[in-house]
Amino acid sequence: VGLSEKLTFQTETQKILHIVAESLYTEKEVFIRELISNASDAIEKVRHLQLTDASKVEDNVTPFEIKISCDEDKKTLIIQDTGIGMTKEEMIKNLGNIGYSGSGEFLKQIGENPDKASIIGQFGVGFYSCFMVGHTIKIYSKSATSGSKGYLWESDGAGSYNISEASGVGRGTKIIIHLKPNAYEYSKKATVEAIIKKYSNFVGFPITLNGHAVNTIRPLWTLNKNSITPQEHTQFYQYLSKSYDTPSYHLHFSTDTPLSIRSIFYIPSQHMEKYGMGRMEPGVSLFSRKVLIQQKAQGILPEWMRFVRGVVDSEDIPLNVSREHLQDNGLIQRISSVLVKRILKHLHDESKKDVAKFNNFMNDFGPFFKEGIISDFKWKDEISKLLRFETSHSSDTSTSLEEYVSRMKPNQNQIYYITVPNRSIGLKSPYYEPFQMKGVEVLFLYNSIDEFVVTNIGHFGDKKVVSVESKEAEEFLLENQEKRTDALSQQEIDSFLGWVTETTPEKVSFAKSTTRSISSPAIIVDHESATMRRMMKMIEPNKQ
Ligand code: ADP
Ligand code: MG
Repeated sequence: VGLSEKLTFQTETQKILHIVAESLYTEKEVFIRELISNASDAIEKVRHLQLTDASKVEDNVTPFEIKISCDEDKKTLIIQDTGIGMTKEEMIKNLGNIGYSGSGEFLKQIGENPDKASIIGQFGVGFYSCFMVGHTIKIYSKSATSGSKGYLWESDGAGSYNISEASGVGRGTKIIIHLKPNAYEYSKKATVEAIIKKYSNFVGFPITLNGHAVNTIRPLWTLNKNSITPQEHTQFYQYLSKSYDTPSYHLHFSTDTPLSIRSIFYIPSQHMEKYGMGRMEPGVSLFSRKVLIQQKAQGILPEWMRFVRGVVDSEDIPLNVSREHLQDNGLIQRISSVLVKRILKHLHDESKKDVAKFNNFMNDFGPFFKEGIISDFKWKDEISKLLRFETSHSSDTSTSLEEYVSRMKPNQNQIYYITVPNRSIGLKSPYYEPFQMKGVEVLFLYNSIDEFVVTNIGHFGDKKVVSVESKEAEEFLLENQEKRTDALSQQEIDSFLGWVTETTPEKVSFAKSTTRSISSPAIIVDHESATMRRMMKMIEPNKQ
């Protein structure tokens, strides 16, 4: 064994090191993710070298694996891989310079090779995260290239490191972390296992912890669609959502333009909000190259889509972005936009494929979509295609606006709705009566939210959505009505209308005669509806 050599970190590295160690990551536990990612990259590189130039690799038999062990007595955590390893020069270059990424360099060298997407690192900061938890870091490494020697790199992260030759080192890298007193929890098996499962469950090489296999689930979103069985989807969904039901729909979506996205979404068969179980948390996790960036990520889908479970993986997202940064990240918003559009389109397609199944789904999940119409104006047109209504045509909640439009009368160019407490009152309503006589379909809405929703929809395509009590509805009725011969004289009408306005000046702003045919003697039109008035009261309780 040769001499130990003391070297200092590059000047910038010294300056940044403590920033990385103290504040780059919101959660300390991510150092495990960073070291596993490096181990996985190292194995990916040796695999690549074996495929392209096996003669350069000294040992072609050692299996690809990542061995982790923790020891509560010794207060250590060890992460070992059988990857490409490092020569002495590589240790100096890769570990002595912050911001220098040997993996980034490797990516440049292999160009557009398909293996590219399997390399995680590229920023050259991840490694330093182990100084958040370790007071001393020892790294044994031996490069896979023929004739290489083993080396030990050792540092306390305070300005300098030692490198010495080491004997008995196998292909790859072994990192020993001597934990700081405030980080002893990372010597506990249960803690470490939970962290590996959280962040690195889908890493492509086997990971063992104290001899036991940890990552056993395939990352379905990265696989070929046709290679996945329905059972596997169900299993994966249950793993993601920690539930036992079978998802009603799933969407496996990948694209490379304008952004690289691999994703999988599931819609649960039921949701708990309808039982008043409180608001669901968002259910989509964000990954970059199979490594978790954020669980239950806010902002990757809009709030109202919180019932969707799934995974979004984009290699365009840097691994080391912090939670706070993700929130207002323009990239996330762009990804989100692509995904929402795709999910809505998928549901629309499904609604055509199996009508009964979709209507059932909408019956349960409709409130989320209504929330979407109200809160997310951007998608209102797409969402309004998915909503289902009860109408005068059918007592099921099964009519889409598209269907309504397809049944419209030739002279009709508006969609009509009525807000009533229930269907039988609706059918008897004097507002509905003239529509019924003309065979014009009317949406029956039973609660204030629905009226608010259709008001927000405003237009469906070029068709305006209006209340049967509106002036627009009145105009439609009058335009499409036969002349009557048994009308009152103008004088009789004038004197009656005069009496109405004089006796109720504070309630009636305007009275006029109509030839609209109804069985009631009088009708109120173009007033704010009773439901709207109740809603306004809720918003501004003091206003009359
Ligand atoms: P990044 O992974 O973004 O490149 P890191 O700071 O995590 O940055 O690592 C810096 C470099 O150190 C890597 O690019 C790689 O060249 C080298 N390295 C780190 N860990 C290992 C390892 N386990 N085996 C081989 N090389 C490694
Ligand atoms: Mg890294």
